Formats: sequence, structure tokens, C-alpha cells
Amino acid sequence: MMFSRFLKKEKKMIDIKNYNNENIFAKILRNEIPSEKVFENDYVYAFNDINPQATIHVLIIPKLSYCSFSDFSENASPTEQANFYKSIKEIATILELDNGYRLITNVGKDGGQEVPHFHFHLLCGKKNL
Ligand code: AMP
Repeated sequence: MMFSRFLKKEKKMIDIKNYNNENIFAKILRNEIPSEKVFENDYVYAFNDINPQATIHVLIIPKLSYCSFSDFSENASPTEQANFYKSIKEIATILELDNGYRLITNVGKDGGQEVPHFHFHLLCGKKNL
């Protein structure tokens, strides 16, 4: 019973084929809603997750519009992709995560993705790690 309710909720989830400019992270990038900035460069914006699942829980997003990891991998330029991944490492260095961290990206409704703008979760420390 509980499980079927969960499935129904999942089924209502996002379209990751067509980018929706009104998603929460697009609004954060346009400064229409606030965020706690951790890092920014020409390609990437990173900010604290509003509902942290670990002591450190940062969301890392490209500034250009990609729905998901699949979209980013297929359509972002090699320069953009290289800069995105280098930025993740740079953020880990700035946050002094010398003992390690966890990276997660959820893709689509079966992957549990809720916000249809590609992002990595960077987690470190206690809670659900
Ligand atoms: P995902 O399920 O992978 O799409 O993750 C979406 C994440 O965005 C969740 O961990 C949420 O807590 C987080 N989130 C949603 N809205 C905001 C917001 N306004 N500011 C920061 N994080 C948010």
C-alpha cells in the first residue's frame, strides 16, 4: 500500500527531455530565489542543499541549461564538461574534504531526480552517508 503510493508520486515526477526554465535551480541561477553560494565560476554554480543529508551537502550545477546527467553528457561541449568536473574537485579542495566525500547524481524519475536541472550532490560527514 505504502509502496504503491510512493510509485504514484514518482510517476508524477519530472520531464527530463525538455528543459523547463521555471525549475528551482534555473530560478536560483537567475537570482529569483535565494541560495547559499559555496562556489562560482564561468561554468558552474554551487550552493548548500536546503535539506542537507550530511554535514556538508552541496549542490553543483552547470550555468547552462541541461535537464540531467544524460543531457549534459550528450550535449555539453567537451570544454564545459571538463570544467564542470574540475570544478567539483576544486570545491572539494576549498572545503578541505581531505578524507573523502561522496558524489551522487540522480537521473530521471526512476533515478529519483526531483529538480530537472543537472546537478551533482557532494556529501561529506554524518547523517545518511
Ligand atoms: P534531486 O532529487 O537529485 O533532484 O535533488 C534535488 C535537491 O535539491 C534535493 O536534495 C533538495 O533538498 C534540493 N533543493 C530543492 N530546492 C532547493 C533550494 N531552493 N535550495 C537548495 N536546495 C534545494
